[in-house]
Amino acid sequence: MSDSVSRIETLRAVAEWHENGAVPHEVPKLESVQSIFGRDVFGERVMRERLPKEIFRSVLRTIRLGEPLDPSIAETVANAMKDWAIENGATHYTHWFQPLTGSTAEKHDSFIWPDGHGGVVTEFSGSALVQGEPDASSFPSGGVRATFEARGYTAWDPTSPVFLNRGTNSVTLCIPTAFVSYTGEALDKKVPLLRSMDAVNEQAMRILRLFGTDKGVSRVFTTCGAEQEYFLIDRRFFVGRPDLLLCNRTLFGSQPPKDQQLEDHYFGSVPERVLTYMADCEKELYSLGVPIKTRHNEVAPAQFEIAPVFENANVAADHQQLVMQVLRKVAPKYGLQCLLHEKPFAGVNGSGKHNNWSMATDTGVNLLDPREETHTNMQFLVFLCAVIRAVDMHADIIRASVAHAGNDHRLGANEAPPAIISIFLGDMLQDLIEQIEKGALKSTMKGGKLDMGAASLPQLPRHTGDRNRTSPFAFTGNKFEFRAVGSSQSIAWPNVILNTVVAESLDFIATELESAVGKTPTEEKLKNAVAKLLQKIVKDHKRVVFNGDGYDIAWHKEAEKRGLPNFKDSVSAFAALKSKKAADLFKKYKVLSKVELESRYHIYVEQYIKTVSIEARTAVNMAKTLVLPAALRHQTELAETVAATQAADIDCAQIRDELEDFAELTGKFKDAIAAVEKSFAHNGHKDEHAHAAQLRDEVLPRMADLRELGDELENRVANDLWPLPTYREMLFVR
Ligand code: ADP
Ligand code: MG
Repeated sequence: MSDSVSRIETLRAVAEWHENGAVPHEVPKLESVQSIFGRDVFGERVMRERLPKEIFRSVLRTIRLGEPLDPSIAETVANAMKDWAIENGATHYTHWFQPLTGSTAEKHDSFIWPDGHGGVVTEFSGSALVQGEPDASSFPSGGVRATFEARGYTAWDPTSPVFLNRGTNSVTLCIPTAFVSYTGEALDKKVPLLRSMDAVNEQAMRILRLFGTDKGVSRVFTTCGAEQEYFLIDRRFFVGRPDLLLCNRTLFGSQPPKDQQLEDHYFGSVPERVLTYMADCEKELYSLGVPIKTRHNEVAPAQFEIAPVFENANVAADHQQLVMQVLRKVAPKYGLQCLLHEKPFAGVNGSGKHNNWSMATDTGVNLLDPREETHTNMQFLVFLCAVIRAVDMHADIIRASVAHAGNDHRLGANEAPPAIISIFLGDMLQDLIEQIEKGALKSTMKGGKLDMGAASLPQLPRHTGDRNRTSPFAFTGNKFEFRAVGSSQSIAWPNVILNTVVAESLDFIATELESAVGKTPTEEKLKNAVAKLLQKIVKDHKRVVFNGDGYDIAWHKEAEKRGLPNFKDSVSAFAALKSKKAADLFKKYKVLSKVELESRYHIYVEQYIKTVSIEARTAVNMAKTLVLPAALRHQTELAETVAATQAADIDCAQIRDELEDFAELTGKFKDAIAAVEKSFAHNGHKDEHAHAAQLRDEVLPRMADLRELGDELENRVANDLWPLPTYREMLFVR
């Protein structure tokens, strides 16, 4: 079956569904959230029921306070876990980890063990729970160790809940684990995340102690809630597009006559098939204990969003992986394909993952909550200024944390935050930092009431400032929202970076304040020391604060004047990971050793090279086997028409012109294929960075030229000869 047949068949099938008002799948019945939530999680509720009291308390101390796990209890916990899993249908268990590929990895082992008499017993020991030993050689290590040194270990992370992964006819017990090499280097995203959370905890506690607000507080966590944007298209279109199949983004495709200009999709009513899909995803996620809260249409046609309630950053990062997994897994049941790429469709809004971030005590106090009368809330101002200082000092590393080939199509384009990292504070906080700078904190700006002018409508309390969608790093009421994170990315790495840079600023502030108040601190001494220190921080770092329109070209000039870095693409952004500044920072807070940091640099550059190379090969292949043949067929039809018309002795100058014109375009397209091939064939790069830069500077631009011509062909070739599902079909048929 040729692709063009499947295109037309898909259109017909979708039309039929619409006529029948049916969703093409047996839909699971609606159940109350309370009854499903956490059903597949070996969490606190199950542990309380199934573990002896003492052991339960011990595990809880590890989960809540981050205390080391008592190894003597592993056996009992493993047994209870196994019984629970088997009762729930599980046959296998796996250490579930997050190698540097950015996705998750698992190797399943069954619970069975031969009993020596021709039968089997089930077994799951404490050591099988706590430690695993997958062959590490096939995961990227970035030179941490040679491939022949294959040994790697996974270690149970008791702070993230164990869960059941249900397949059509399989149930697997998944144990979140950390992944390290034989020599102890972190080969994953979890180990540095946990280390960076420890760093924040240590430094933030010092600040709380200074303010005397540490009573009853055992730990400070970073919290995170990630809003996931994604596209949904009919799966049959997806399989008809080699570029989506292999690269997750379209490499060809002319703009539809309509896209998002009517702004009729954003927050619009969710199409029935999509809503059914969303509810099914949510059900699975609820079972896994992921607290999904929000769903809505996004800006682009066929674009949607899902967001959970925030959790501690480590659990949030694991849960975010589950969100991506479930979104992908459930879609085919409804004949859909979920696209998590940052820019599946050129010229159409891209997808990000807004990473909402804050710090909170284990007693539930959000340290970035300004509360009322914020000008008197010195502790909040300290945490706020720590973030401002951190982002200004390490904008380059923060930018690097979201760098990858996919995000290059989004960051800096005219819809997503620019690649310049700046902070949006809003009117109220802006006013406060101006007061701090002047050395006199006097008042807090109030938002007042919003009167809608109709007697029956309530008066709404108004925020003190409007929102700003254009800022990459925005204060949004009681948290920061890092919006430059890519939709396909693991949130672990950006959070490692945020935590580490903020830990450093908290350390700096705590050290200054501790020495200023000395051995006999008084409230007065502290207040004066804080005022003086924050004044200096604001003076030194306010350049990173920008409340205006991040899309405005004038801002780019202004940012340059202020000396803010602007790494427009991943290849230039990666360099920050190689700096001495970064190495010192990560080493000081014991988040990454020099070797571990370097390995990440290598892996990310390598991933960039691989991604762009696959795209280049796919583009050439599609150009030669799909686009060009379609164009030649069209050309033949034109030529035949000219010949037939002439034979009938009818004047056909215009059709002949069209043929000539079209043949010229086909010729240009052919040349453009050769140009991509030539630039891609270049070898002998002096190192990986040079290779990545050559792909960026030569191959990607040639691919863009090729695409432009291909899209022009699409606009001229007869529709029934065009082999690829079009943007119009993919974005509007659902
Ligand atoms: P928006 O208006 O940007 O959609 P929401 O209030 O809906 O903002 O929150 C978006 C995300 O931010 C949600 O996942 C939410 O749980 C998360 N969030 C809220 N408070 C915090 C916090 N203190 N720390 C981390 N994330 C938070
Ligand atoms: Mg948001």
